[in-house]
Amino acid sequence: MIILEEALVRLTSSLIQMESTTPERINYAVEFCASWLQRHGVPVRLWENQGLKMITATIGQANAGSTLVLNGHLDVVPGHTENFIPRVEAGRLHGRGSYDMLGAVAAMMALIADLVQQPPKGRIILQLVPDEEKGGELGSAYLVEQGSIGDFVICGEPTNLDIAVQAKGVLQVKVEFSGISAHGSRPWLGKNAIVAAMQKYNQLATLDFMKESSRFFPAPSFNLAKIEGGAALNQVPDRCSLYLDIRYLPTQNPGDILESIRQAVPDAHVEMLRHGSPVTTDACNPYVQTLQQSTAHIFGRETVLFGQDGSADTRFFAQYGIPAVEFGPIGANHHGPDEYVEIESLVLYQKILRSFIKQLEGKVNRDEIEK
Ligand SMILES: [Zn+2]
Repeated sequence: MIILEEALVRLTSSLIQMESTTPERINYAVEFCASWLQRHGVPVRLWENQGLKMITATIGQANAGSTLVLNGHLDVVPGHTENFIPRVEAGRLHGRGSYDMLGAVAAMMALIADLVQQPPKGRIILQLVPDEEKGGELGSAYLVEQGSIGDFVICGEPTNLDIAVQAKGVLQVKVEFSGISAHGSRPWLGKNAIVAAMQKYNQLATLDFMKESSRFFPAPSFNLAKIEGGAALNQVPDRCSLYLDIRYLPTQNPGDILESIRQAVPDAHVEMLRHGSPVTTDACNPYVQTLQQSTAHIFGRETVLFGQDGSADTRFFAQYGIPAVEFGPIGANHHGPDEYVEIESLVLYQKILRSFIKQLEGKVNRDEIEK
């Protein structure tokens, strides 16, 4: 236990020190992980997409059971210099990325390095990727497109050992209002586009789709993220754009939401800027239930299934109908000033993953689980 704990703290600390916030540093972290795994006898495949490196490490055999994908991102959000100096205090490992999600990555790496000695029936693919914090299109999405997929996916995002089975979809929309410009001293001669946008904003934020709820979510969310409009102080503005960041329920249809926005503002130009699929993993999915049982057994506590408001790389697997969950250790303050992970939870996390893999191998027959 102590040895495992020390090993996980050491590996996580090395990853924190990589300061993987730029493409160069992320690539360096990927290479570090590749050689670490190779040194421990794990076969590694190096991938590169648009200058960003990533790896997959596969153990076990296809056609002998389930294929489990363990997915971790190595990129972290920026921080101050002191955030990248790992510090252990009162059972916690502090540092940027300790919780989101370098601790989970270290636990996954150490587990694979251990299992390679005696591979389980079935197959485990460890994916270590860049770009998650920027959207994931260049990392996990690329690997999925290349066919690196499985029967079940665990992304080691910070979840405090609960299991996020669903995530909201992302719909980012630009609504452009037009007006008529005029001299600022005679506004009655023009039509003010900013005022038109302000008058419509409340209606947009309270459309019917915003009043819906689903099993894991009380409501969608609606954020007015940016406003563009106006050029000079003595002019009536003839353009105003509202940039909306809508996080919709897995049960909702983004096309219907766009249509309701268009109907609410027929004179405005509505443009979809970005879409990300929701994650709709079924709470009754046998892999989810097995993971829930393993967690309850090792952790000795009821494990909560929940829905994430934000999106993660799980969505790229969900797009292909592959059940994917976010599941990671206990900590706090990810993306914040004093991020930390509970060291004991890293050990538990690794034990839970190990027990989960054991259960997949022993108790559950693949055909049964795919039903
Ligand atoms: Zn993350």
